[in-house]
Amino acid sequence: MSKIEQSSAMQCARCVAVFKATGQRCTAFALAGKRTCARHGALSTGPRTAEGKKKCSTARTVHGGDTIAIRKERSLASARLAILEQVGHGLKMMTGPRTRGRKPDRMGEAYPELQALYQKLVIERAKLSA
Ligand SMILES: [Zn+2]
Repeated sequence: MSKIEQSSAMQCARCVAVFKATGQRCTAFALAGKRTCARHGALSTGPRTAEGKKKCSTARTVHGGDTIAIRKERSLASARLAILEQVGHGLKMMTGPRTRGRKPDRMGEAYPELQALYQKLVIERAKLSA
């Protein structure tokens, strides 16, 4: 490799983008005068017209689609599913592997009557027979 080739290779900037899925940095070359590769937004010119620039500066670019109410509703729904799965397995209506991972946070709030009934029927009966 000649000295000219070496020096041009030294000047090639790499893309600074990080893959969300893996957390690893992109290994592609950045486009000339840009910090990222073409795949990671170097081809974008950004807003060009005065109207577009104003629109971009006033836009909310941070994702915030979820509201607290929606998050609570989803959390309760997953807790209900976990309760139904627990009761189904406890009453031997369901077989097979259980859902992996931690239990949902709001298990105490979902189906309190069903949980009390399950406690009375399955768990206390198991304690008596043991
Ligand atoms: Zn890239």
